[in-house]
Amino acid sequence: MKPHPARMGHVPELDTPSSAPPIFQTTAFDIADLQLLSELHQGKASGHIYTRDSNPNHQALADSIAALENAEAGAVFASGMAALAAVSMTLCHSRDRILVARSLYGVTLKLMKRLETRFDVEVVYVDATDPASIKQAVDDRTKFCLIETVSNPLLEVSDIPAIVNALGSVPLVVDSTFTTPELIRPIELGASIVIHSASKYLNGHGDVMLGVAAGDAATMRQVRSTSSVFGQNANPFESWLTQRGLRTLPLRMQHIATTTRRLAKFLTIQRVCRKVYHPSLPDHSTAATATRLLPQGCGGIVSFELNGGGKDRVSSLMRAMPQIPFSATLADARTTVSHPATTSHGFMTRQERAAIGITDEMVRLSVGLESFEQIQSDLQAGFEAIENQ
Ligand SMILES: *Cc1c(COP(=O)(O)O)cnc(C)c1O
Repeated sequence: MKPHPARMGHVPELDTPSSAPPIFQTTAFDIADLQLLSELHQGKASGHIYTRDSNPNHQALADSIAALENAEAGAVFASGMAALAAVSMTLCHSRDRILVARSLYGVTLKLMKRLETRFDVEVVYVDATDPASIKQAVDDRTKFCLIETVSNPLLEVSDIPAIVNALGSVPLVVDSTFTTPELIRPIELGASIVIHSASKYLNGHGDVMLGVAAGDAATMRQVRSTSSVFGQNANPFESWLTQRGLRTLPLRMQHIATTTRRLAKFLTIQRVCRKVYHPSLPDHSTAATATRLLPQGCGGIVSFELNGGGKDRVSSLMRAMPQIPFSATLADARTTVSHPATTSHGFMTRQERAAIGITDEMVRLSVGLESFEQIQSDLQAGFEAIENQ
């Protein structure tokens, strides 16, 4: 009989394995018989059943993240938001109470608002730079506390050991997107779960949407189950790309951290800059915490405020620096700028932003892989262009 194309194209296992990992772009896996299925369900056989639940590319990345974070196990999700949603929905039920940092990433704050309005979770906002106030906010209904290692865009560093201490037995969940395991490993400092938007530094090339989490094996199993039920799974190609990005993470983060520290200093002596926010600067509110917890560097984000001119002057600066594009992300391989007042914090009123120190003249720089001199000269050209306007 003529062979049917639906049955063609299967690649056999090879005696010469591919140097780079293959991509398992498959919905499901062929299972020899019901005996094997039962062994797979019980964890007695190794293998996968359905990609929404698990896939070799997700598994490889989850294991890599767990190893880098010094955690027992990891998990992979469709985005950083999916990771945050899956972890939150695993750790709390309706009528539970959770503590979350007031300065969280804007969309994470929206997620917390949804947990409150749709799922009846009591959300208490705390100051991540004030462990004593966190201690006061804990009670026996508190299921977890969510913070970020370094806040956006003011770059306030959280004192993780002090917060762990303040929380007692309440688990601390840390979004370490801005820092990566190259700069800080929250689990080693006592946190229970660490989360990343891998769309940022872990992948590092601006071409992926992915989230990861790592923690103890039992919790991660539950989190993966939540993710499967709510359909928050990633796709294998994104895990494969992120795995590829991870290979250069140490080199990228070292370069970025060093370049950013030098650029922060350069920004402080610019006439058009009123204020510069970076934890490596001695006048930053959390400089001492940064010295203690981030000895390898504080990451690649630095924010600065122009000395007047409002949004129009920020737009002029953007137009004057064509090599440093305005982009609504961070941690691209290229250096980019963003405008917190209209992007990450656009959901707040002007007054609310003013209360936390975010003005219309604030610019956030995400330092990429170019040389210090290249980025410095582009910034210089931009500043000179707007200086006399
Ligand atoms: C980008 C980001 C997220 C959300 O991640 P996505 O991959 O965009 O869903 C969460 N937390 C922080 C700190 C981020 O920067």
